[in-house]
Amino acid sequence: MIRLHDVSKTYYPRGRGDGAVTALRHADLHVPRGEIHGVIGLSGAGKSTLIRCVNLLERPTTGTVTVDGQELTALSGAALNQARHRIGMIFQHFNLLTSRTVFANVSLPLELMGMKRAAIRERVLPLLDLVGLADKADQYPAQLSGGQKQRVAIARALASRPKVLLCDEATSALDPHTTGSILELLRDINQQLGLTILLITHEMEVVKSICHRVSLISDGELVEEADVGDFFTAP
Ligand code: ADP
Ligand code: ADP
Repeated sequence: MIRLHDVSKTYYPRGRGDGAVTALRHADLHVPRGEIHGVIGLSGAGKSTLIRCVNLLERPTTGTVTVDGQELTALSGAALNQARHRIGMIFQHFNLLTSRTVFANVSLPLELMGMKRAAIRERVLPLLDLVGLADKADQYPAQLSGGQKQRVAIARALASRPKVLLCDEATSALDPHTTGSILELLRDINQQLGLTILLITHEMEVVKSICHRVSLISDGELVEEADVGDFFTAP
């Protein structure tokens, strides 16, 4: 479902040649359909760069990214935007629009796709149900807890009916109890909707509790990959 082939990313913060930072080196990764795959590593290891290369929020310097059989690195403009509908993403700080209600945050991607009001309603209300926020449709993000905000973000990420969900430190801003309930929701989504999930985290517990497979990233390189059971068993 997700395939990275020989992906490298070099940032040039002060223009080409000066102060270049290679954040990702020759990354190969395959995440089959239906898998929850965790990438774990220390701060600065390149996790965020890796996950942002999957939906081309960052364009890889070299290498190819293929999602659901389509090579994204070969696309640009409208074709890339279209392909991105198959990829949802959630973030550490939720990235909700504060001036929009819960309903309107979730409907935003559908509005941008040009979907009609009635169809949007039909899509959004079941999603709010799924994430347990049916009674919060008219509230604003400021009225919600962190866990509720992340539920809104999950509903928004699912609005375009993606095949893949990318989670960028999605529980790092939450307390342990709330983290547990968000991870449970992600597991339900994986099982009920068959969504493939790629997540990055610096927390072992997150990987242990929901991932099927795990990759370790260190200094821009994917250095190890294993089933979660094997990864946490001492040799
Ligand atoms: P992680 O998510 O594991 O903390 P990142 O992918 O954010 O790692 O960062 C990896 C390396 O790339 C770090 O050295 C970081 O400073 C650098 N980096 C990340 N984003 C940029 C950027 N936009 N410009 C320059 N350097 C960056
Ligand atoms: P604004 O457009 O001023 O930001 P809102 O954020 O309240 O207003 O709503 C944006 C859009 O979402 C509007 O089209 C509104 O009718 C619709 N909307 C908001 N809440 C609901 C709801 N609970 N059920 C159906 N539609 C809603």
